[in-house]
Amino acid sequence: MQVYLDNNATTMTDPKVVEAMMPYFSEVYGNPNSLHKFGTASHPALQKALDQVYTAINASDNDDIIFTSCATESNNWVLKSVWIDKIVNGDKNHIVTTEVEHPSILSTCRFLEDQGVKVTYLPVNEKGIVEAHTVKSFITDKTALVSVMWANNETGMIFPIEEIGAICKEKGVLFHTDGVQAVGKIPVDVQKVDVDFMSFSAHKFHGPKGVGGLYIKDSQPLTPHFHGGEHMGGRRSGTLNVPGIVGMGEAIELATKDIESTMVKVREKRDRLEDALLEIIPDTFVVGSRDKRTPNTMLISIRGVEGEGMLWDLNRYDIGASTGSACASEDLEANTVMLAIGADHELAHTGIRLSLSRFTTDAEIDYTIEHFRQAVERLRSISSSYAKVQPTPGGEAGECYMPHHMAH
Ligand SMILES: *Cc1c(COP(=O)(O)O)cnc(C)c1O
Repeated sequence: MQVYLDNNATTMTDPKVVEAMMPYFSEVYGNPNSLHKFGTASHPALQKALDQVYTAINASDNDDIIFTSCATESNNWVLKSVWIDKIVNGDKNHIVTTEVEHPSILSTCRFLEDQGVKVTYLPVNEKGIVEAHTVKSFITDKTALVSVMWANNETGMIFPIEEIGAICKEKGVLFHTDGVQAVGKIPVDVQKVDVDFMSFSAHKFHGPKGVGGLYIKDSQPLTPHFHGGEHMGGRRSGTLNVPGIVGMGEAIELATKDIESTMVKVREKRDRLEDALLEIIPDTFVVGSRDKRTPNTMLISIRGVEGEGMLWDLNRYDIGASTGSACASEDLEANTVMLAIGADHELAHTGIRLSLSRFTTDAEIDYTIEHFRQAVERLRSISSSYAKVQPTPGGEAGECYMPHHMAH
């Protein structure tokens, strides 16, 4: 059996999505910007995809949705264009974000710091959440933008976007959210929150890779960062990825139309896996309260078991997991989110992220429980550090459990 539990890194493209995309490779292949019928033949499909995205996130007719190549592009676009518009060409000099954003936000912020921008990186609390009041306390009259993700990719923690949006609105500051881990996992309604910009990516909700989007409230101006042939009304040039866009439309509809009932089933499987691992493996804990997490995600820490080693043992059993951010897992750095919630360095190397999807089966969960236990037993039996530490009881399900001497 092969078990894919790395759905926060990417997902399988739903076969129904692939089917919807197929005609737009070799049959309807004209450039949508061309005036002849080869070009215009794609227009109904593009319009349908756009409608599907508007419906899925409940955008209003005044809002813009711009197709991009990925969420990394959407995130870069917002940060760099706000920098140009409000800092270089305006009187602001400050951006507020968090320590636990995706690298596409964090690296862009580092770049902007090199250009002289002041960036505040808000910490998460010991429960793994960014508190709205901390956002408020760091906004000044020089703040151009607040960028806080809707849900965290490593822990699944859902951040108080509604409250943060309200604070930004009250202070007159633009608010961007990286919605990649929220769209398709929890209900996302952009009319219920005061977000100015939201990034999303098709391959995180069973769509194809290489296509994403940026939601822009009230079609407000944002300097383009791709200049060229006036595609998307000049907001983002480059020939449209017609098959990708068609696929994203289909995927977002499939992922959101019965989201509540689909996610109840995903959550049941995740909780069963989590309960079993916490019960059968002593000295483990899971980061973050369950009801504050996306229903598919858990970041589990196993004392004495280094994350990389665990990953390779699971891989031998054909189980695909992650030690955290896929982009960061090539270097053996400690899990930054774990460090942020106050884990010590040794513990921060033990995090394993398991992320399910609507395609995960009960048989796969059973298989994972059994082989996860075997891998931990093997690795602990050869671990020099595990024997030395004082055993602490397993974490309470649904709690952010921190053994006492590790809390800060
Ligand atoms: C995957 C991910 C991204 C990047 O998305 P791409 O479309 O692969 O560039 C950005 N933010 C979060 C939270 C992610 O999980």
